[in-house]
Amino acid sequence: MKKIVIAIDGPAAAGKSTTAKLVAEKLNYLHIDTGAMYRALTYKILRDGIDPENEAAVVEALKDSKVDLKKEKNEIKVFLDDEDVSKYLRSAEVTNAVSAVSSYKQVREMMVELQRRISNEGGVVLEGRDIGTVVIPDADLKIFMIAGIETRAKRRQKELAEKGLMIDYNKIVNEIIERDNKDSKRKESPLRKADDAIVLDTSNLSIEEQVNFIVNKALEIIEN
Ligand code: C5P
Repeated sequence: MKKIVIAIDGPAAAGKSTTAKLVAEKLNYLHIDTGAMYRALTYKILRDGIDPENEAAVVEALKDSKVDLKKEKNEIKVFLDDEDVSKYLRSAEVTNAVSAVSSYKQVREMMVELQRRISNEGGVVLEGRDIGTVVIPDADLKIFMIAGIETRAKRRQKELAEKGLMIDYNKIVNEIIERDNKDSKRKESPLRKADDAIVLDTSNLSIEEQVNFIVNKALEIIEN
């Protein structure tokens, strides 16, 4: 059976990760969370006391870094220089610094090369900001996932509450808006809908509905 490449892009907290993971499970594909790769590099920068706004220092510190995605049971783990760093990637510190680190050309080149290498045999669902525009512009299926800011902030608040973190709603709204602004306005590979991407507004959809929408589109392509 044909193994296709599915690209899911969109702003922060639009539901990309949850959806991409379930789509990959249904199709028996590999799920590649490219945000987690940028987060792993950001974790290293902060851990080593480097200023994320200092491009030269960031590039120098990361030039020999190794990021691997390894499948363990049903989960993809992110390894940085052979250490499993998955559990550090969602912290507020990393979230606040990741847009700076991911805006640098050399950092992006390293990650894009890796993302293309893991995808070259197909059978993958990649999610990020620039998959359909830059990483795999000829992806078989491109989805641009969006949702209203209220929906996104509420989802993020619930997700954090489940981890025991009670964060003010307005703070979450501001954080999401600021990150989207930085990601959309940067010079290198900004967050942008590819011309041939299908817009999927998940504001009023259940997770099951959004997953089924993408899986059905994928099956139409695979079966033709
Ligand atoms: O998707 P997630 O929220 O984990 O992404 C974290 C950050 O990584 C984004 O805000 C963005 O700065 C960066 N990113 C990127 N390109 C991608 C995926 C993520 O620049 N393809």
